[in-house]
Amino acid sequence: MNPSLYLGLQNSIALPLPQRLYSITMNLEAFILGSGGMMPLPNRHLTSVLLRREGDLFLFDGGEGTQVSLRRLNLRWKKISAIFISHTHADHVTGIPGILMLSSQVDREDPLYIIGPPRIAEYIETSRRVLDMYINYEILVKEINEGGIVYTGADFHVRAFPLQHTKPCFGYTLEENPRPGEFHPEQALAKGVPRGPRWAQLQAGKIVQAADGTKVHPEEVLGPIRSGRKFSFVTDTLPFYEIAQEVAGSDLFVCEGMFEANLEESAREKKHMTAEQAAQIAAAAQVKKLALIHYSPRYTEYNLKQLLKEAQAIFPNTLLSRDRLVFPIEYKD
Ligand SMILES: [Zn+2]
Ligand SMILES: [Zn+2]
Repeated sequence: MNPSLYLGLQNSIALPLPQRLYSITMNLEAFILGSGGMMPLPNRHLTSVLLRREGDLFLFDGGEGTQVSLRRLNLRWKKISAIFISHTHADHVTGIPGILMLSSQVDREDPLYIIGPPRIAEYIETSRRVLDMYINYEILVKEINEGGIVYTGADFHVRAFPLQHTKPCFGYTLEENPRPGEFHPEQALAKGVPRGPRWAQLQAGKIVQAADGTKVHPEEVLGPIRSGRKFSFVTDTLPFYEIAQEVAGSDLFVCEGMFEANLEESAREKKHMTAEQAAQIAAAAQVKKLALIHYSPRYTEYNLKQLLKEAQAIFPNTLLSRDRLVFPIEYKD
């Protein structure tokens, strides 16, 4: 039915009502800007993931080629709100100066937050100075030494947690707050609350007054509280149990799968993990989907199938990240 037909029918219950009129839904997608580790290949830029939540953009690492992928995706360019850096190895940060310069192409009033391990401020400041970068906005750098909440939005937060690599390194989770239950218009009408602003107030968790003066509580017209979504980003680390605790229940878990299983010893020496170990964490953490990333340049596109096979034997819902692949992150309920 055409929604305009509802105009002027405020108290009618004779017509079907739109069930999700005031429900809060936001698009959440992860764009893989680079999937490689160590060095770039012709079709594989270095590790970087852009998370888009409705209009807000968040970047997780920015290896070489980040800007190229971003432009090739042809996203409607607005602005990145925050950049989260795992560690200061070149394959994770050399794309950042380009992103900072690209960000000067649009006007912005809000600052850009850059969050990462010690020395990230020095890296940003030195790049700015030596490269004479033109930056028309404020950059706020926050160095972290331990795990905890590092960024808070209106209805979500980003948490950092320490990893075990050859230098200080952090993993990140972005987690949405739980959402209110589904709004039931017929119950609101039955309680004497006609269509109008009070429906939105009920949906927002506020108590309203019915036509006869009685109070109507939101739980009387809303279904059970629904969960938010969780995105996790973990790369360049030995595998260890606490990672599973941090990423538990993620809807999308982007994790390093640098080597195949027979190179486990070499992975351990370099403080990295295999695709199989990433899958073990995904299984222990009961995530919904695992996307492998940060592949060793030794693997051709064809060889990556071996990494996928080994991971899927342990965690079937594993996928390979590829440059410019998009993973939509859906609500569970
Ligand atoms: Zn790396
Ligand atoms: Zn590294």
